[in-house]
Amino acid sequence: MKKLFLALFILLILFIAYLFYNVYNFKSSQLEVDAIEATPIPEGAVSRYVEAISIRTISFEDEADFDSTQFKKFNAFLEGYYPLAHSELEHRRFNEFSHLFHWKGKDQRLKPIVLMAHIDAVPIATPAAWSVHPFTDGLVNDTIYGRGAMDCKFGVIGIMESVEQLLREGFAPNRDIYISLGHDEEIGGPRGAVEIAQYLKSKSVDPHFVLDEGMAITDGLIPGIDGPTAIIGIAEKGYLSLELTVAMEGGHSSTPQKESSIDVLSKAVSNVKENPCPRTLSPVLSAFMDKMGPEMDSKAKFVFANRKIFKSLILNEMEKTNSGNASVRTTTSPTIFEAGIKDNVIPTAARAVINFRIIPGETIDDVIAHVHKVINDDRVNVEILNKAFDPSPVSPVDNSQYESIDRSIKQIFPNIKSTPNLVLGATDSRHFTILTNNVYRFSPFKVSPKNMSCFHGIDERVPRSEFENGIRFYRQLIMNGSN
Ligand SMILES: [Zn+2]
Repeated sequence: MKKLFLALFILLILFIAYLFYNVYNFKSSQLEVDAIEATPIPEGAVSRYVEAISIRTISFEDEADFDSTQFKKFNAFLEGYYPLAHSELEHRRFNEFSHLFHWKGKDQRLKPIVLMAHIDAVPIATPAAWSVHPFTDGLVNDTIYGRGAMDCKFGVIGIMESVEQLLREGFAPNRDIYISLGHDEEIGGPRGAVEIAQYLKSKSVDPHFVLDEGMAITDGLIPGIDGPTAIIGIAEKGYLSLELTVAMEGGHSSTPQKESSIDVLSKAVSNVKENPCPRTLSPVLSAFMDKMGPEMDSKAKFVFANRKIFKSLILNEMEKTNSGNASVRTTTSPTIFEAGIKDNVIPTAARAVINFRIIPGETIDDVIAHVHKVINDDRVNVEILNKAFDPSPVSPVDNSQYESIDRSIKQIFPNIKSTPNLVLGATDSRHFTILTNNVYRFSPFKVSPKNMSCFHGIDERVPRSEFENGIRFYRQLIMNGSN
């Protein structure tokens, strides 16, 4: 008995030593780079940014609302203010309003880089809730306000300003550079990014890397991390909406049958909601823990260094917040539920829509199989509703492409940490994954608990200093990435 206890005790000591050994080896892998001196901002850049926002290039769900005069105005805006980009680079338009610029590099053996952004923005749902006018107030207290300020004219103007500035200076990149500006990202990109990606594919363009919007510099958003952290999106979730319909005999509500279409459908929806897709510690989350774990407090560091052992604990913690939960599983959101027209008539049909955002590692088919299994009722018909796409592939983090982006961030933003992570929404960049696996998603503005809700929401805004650093970032990225 004594011997057994002794053996167990030694095993326990060894186990604890193993845990601490892992922590000891869990060292910072942050790229150490000195910040560079801030370069001058092109004169008038802020007013051009304000003017770009004032042009109402809105993508509406209903195509009939599309206002081509605004998009024509935006074409003229680009042509008027970025003359060198139009004269010195090859310029091609797609469906009139999407743009592809091609800057030829000195060394044609090198693969090109692709910088992306989109011209369109989402509609304004509640204009009265804005503290400024969403299109015309522009610069207020050194902050640029307006729909599209973050998403995504920050990127459009940031890229175009840096390109025009470099052209003025006579900069000649080694690699080719493509600049892709779609005009319908907010409605899936069918006429913009999809066609641009297909065009590049037809030309056998194999990019060194692609950089689009998607993640940003977070401040106070990740528990356990102090200070601003640049998040580089290395994958994005898939998208699936399933339409559930039930057709049954109706009748008068005075003599109801045992079950109606409403009963069957509500049970089905509640089964799907109560049986979520399985949680998983994805490769993206693992890459995040590798990069950020050593920078975090000792508790998080200990757990992340031993993630195989503490997997359940990590997942339990992640599940507690909405964004954490979305990072560890395919999410389930019933978004439409409808049946019935009169209070004393049992409806013959009922319909619901459930939206899923699919975690990398799962597919549309996996989710559909899961839904059939948990509903387990032949009376419920399940169909895919309009657009659906699988999650993007996961882009590598241990290559020179990721390092170029990381380096550019750290040269412009002193003392910042950076990490890969998962994009929970969808961007145009997913269309470019047919060209390369090296697709990254990052815009250099700050997102904090204070301004997070203004993304697609109220009082969308960017401080002037962040916009200026945005131009500097794209400039630096072109210089680093193209050489
Ligand atoms: Zn966007």
